Amino acid sequence: MTETIDALAGPVSGGGVVVLSGAGLSTESGIPDYRGPSGAARRHTPMTYQAFTRDADARRRYWARSHVGWRLIARSEPNDGHRAVTRLQRAGLVDGIITQNVDGLHTAAGGTGVVELHGRLDEVVCLDCGNATSREELDRRLREANPGFEAHVDAVNPDGDVDLPDAAVARFRTVDCTFCGTGVLKPDVVFFGETVPAPRVARCFAMVEAARLLLVLGSSLTVMSGRRFVLRAAKLGIPVVIVNQGPTRGDAYAQLTVDAPLGRLLPAVADRLVGAGAGAAGFGEVGAVPAGAAPVAL
Ligand SMILES: [Zn+2]
Repeated sequence: MTETIDALAGPVSGGGVVVLSGAGLSTESGIPDYRGPSGAARRHTPMTYQAFTRDADARRRYWARSHVGWRLIARSEPNDGHRAVTRLQRAGLVDGIITQNVDGLHTAAGGTGVVELHGRLDEVVCLDCGNATSREELDRRLREANPGFEAHVDAVNPDGDVDLPDAAVARFRTVDCTFCGTGVLKPDVVFFGETVPAPRVARCFAMVEAARLLLVLGSSLTVMSGRRFVLRAAKLGIPVVIVNQGPTRGDAYAQLTVDAPLGRLLPAVADRLVGAGAGAAGFGEVGAVPAGAAPVAL
């Protein structure tokens, strides 16, 4: 473990780090990474943008599952990995955070200027008039439209989707946009089959191009949406370090790959570079590791 901390602390200590995080960083917050080694395999295909926009039954299925799954996501809290990234950011070592996660946990952990590549699950947009509302408001409306809706939840996926019996789905009632009256509501996240808005991608490329180091945390880099930033960094000769449990599709471009649980490794690295508890001033919810604490065994 000490060697692992040293190996990661070395490159990060130079600063200018841009973080690219994925589902693996949120598993320790109780949100499973269905692509990761410990994640339960997804039992149904993820909703595509095409199915969602064209098929009312598909939308009903999505909202029924998401209505239940949202409670679990809304209850989730940042873990020590998110908090360690915040500490490194406050210490001036991390310049930017790009996340593929839609759970908002980097920001909840105090991270600033986080670019949420695939959007946020707690925001809702009307596909017809573009009106944006909060998921909390939609949640209230969906509960009113579905009194007593109860179903057994087997598993929640990183996008807030759960597995539900067909009978429960069939009796779920969706609601439309209150602003234009008839518009279809969609969580403001990027679905499979949908592209990330171009200005957001451009902003991420600019961050990566200005970085001294691209640090990938908990992403298998399966989809090009995130992998393209690793490719861009590699092309420009910017070092890439990947911390993930299991191999990733970016390993060939990395100067260093580390296979370790992020919620344990990152706090140890932050302790090494920032000092235990330092960087957490005025951040009451951080459980700072006491100075002199024994190294975490991985
Ligand atoms: Zn509308």
